[in-house]
Amino acid sequence: MDRISHWIDGKVVPSTSGRSAAVFNPATGKQSSAVDLASVDEVDAAVAAAAAAFPAWRATSLSKRAEILFRMRELVDANRKEIAALLTAEHGKVLSDSMGEVARGLENIEFACGIPQLIKGEYSEQASTGVDVYSIRQPLGVVAGITPFNFPAMVPMWMFANALACGNTFVLKPSEKDPSVTMFMAELLSQAGLPDGCFNVVQGDKVAVDRILEHDGISAVSFVGSTPIAKYIYETGTKAGKRVQALGGAKNHMLVLNDADVGMAADAAIGAAYGSAGERCMAISVVLAAEGIADELVAEIANRIPSVTVGAGDVPGNEMGPLITAESRDRVKGYIDAAPGEGATVVVDGRDGIPDDGFFVNPTLLDNVSTDMSVYTDEIFGPVLGVVRVAGYQEGLDIINANPFANGTAIFTRDGGAARQFQFDVEVGMVGINVPVPVPVSYYSFGGWKASLFGDTHMYGPEGINFYTRAKVVTSRWPDPASSTIDLGFPETR
Ligand code: NAD
Repeated sequence: MDRISHWIDGKVVPSTSGRSAAVFNPATGKQSSAVDLASVDEVDAAVAAAAAAFPAWRATSLSKRAEILFRMRELVDANRKEIAALLTAEHGKVLSDSMGEVARGLENIEFACGIPQLIKGEYSEQASTGVDVYSIRQPLGVVAGITPFNFPAMVPMWMFANALACGNTFVLKPSEKDPSVTMFMAELLSQAGLPDGCFNVVQGDKVAVDRILEHDGISAVSFVGSTPIAKYIYETGTKAGKRVQALGGAKNHMLVLNDADVGMAADAAIGAAYGSAGERCMAISVVLAAEGIADELVAEIANRIPSVTVGAGDVPGNEMGPLITAESRDRVKGYIDAAPGEGATVVVDGRDGIPDDGFFVNPTLLDNVSTDMSVYTDEIFGPVLGVVRVAGYQEGLDIINANPFANGTAIFTRDGGAARQFQFDVEVGMVGINVPVPVPVSYYSFGGWKASLFGDTHMYGPEGINFYTRAKVVTSRWPDPASSTIDLGFPETR
């Protein structure tokens, strides 16, 4: 049985903790390997390696850092297929989706290659007579990333690309459910010329996370995962004096107005609800259908579902793979079991025709969902789409704004005025206008509002650069010593 270990100080380090977890191929349901779970000492060893590497890395020129990132960009590009295959083997998502994940992660490395431009400060000559004022941005030190199972390559790239570019050193704690891809990333960073100790991976569970949160040597923590853990990470990390950005779960609504192109909205709903088996924090899980088009929209979505090919992710042509674990599969099926009793109509039942092997649930469509049902209130994180029928724009907007989650949302309409009003009114961090999964490009920043994000800074893009640096402002003068006098007054500009 393969064993997945840690990456500390530029090499694979087998664990001595004596603890491990099973890693599965979700398409077969069989265990494929075991991942080590770090002890406190092993986290400490990774932090020590990162701390030792920090002084030289922060002193490395911007040009040299950009050069290493550019080489990493080339290596990830050259190894897209290998990374995607690793992703599919442990996560279960289909290969085309894994390729998309790699491409969207790679954007962040490309963005970080521009670090000489991104990290520039400001300069004010003659702020006072003979006095210049300027700001510089400096790295924080050792920073940590804790990542979820659903984007095991992209989310680490959201974090480490900018963190390293800014001159920090990094400790990553990936999801224990699909850990292999991060070890490959570590190897590629090493091949790209990143000095040993700058990037470390500790495999683990709550023991490793809690050590990261309390470790004095770690200055900042970036987290992506579910809302209860995000809140815990934010509260515990900030209490320990760290800078924390913690992105949480989601319940994303797609509002379809009466004037929308119903066929286009149905196509979009299929991709956004069932892509990656609904295991995306930006998946659409609720369609708010205006009453004039609701019957037609439900029928159009239902008609398309049989054409979605479900099966093992590594079989070309399959469009939707399994869920990550048997527990996820059973949890998702539990929501479908409960839906009729709560008053929803099961239009397409994803419990039908599931293969015996693997962690599959087929695409499911529920109609007549209301906002008090568990299929509405909970983040299901599976291929279950609920339709809530609404009178029109205002009722749809009110439902979205009343939801505690606020990660992404989308409006489908041909009315530019309604779309613009939606963008103005809606209390959600990422908004799509006829775009169902509005994940921002890498030169903007990613983040929800409300229970979808704890902390002040969104992830990657310009906010990522701010998160991984702190500002220093220098006030400078070079007077003629002959003009020097004593002045006990508070310095004023002159
Ligand atoms: P999760 O919260 O279970 O795990 C995330 C990380 O936290 C993992 O590394 C895990 O090992 C660790 N962890 C889990 N339980 C812990 C505990 N009790 N104490 C300390 N650490 C713990 O999330 P997941 O199931 O891996 O990922 C799915 C979730 O992530 C969904 O809720 C999804 O919406 C969310 N997500 C959000 C975004 C976003 O950008 N907002 C992106 C991707 C995923």
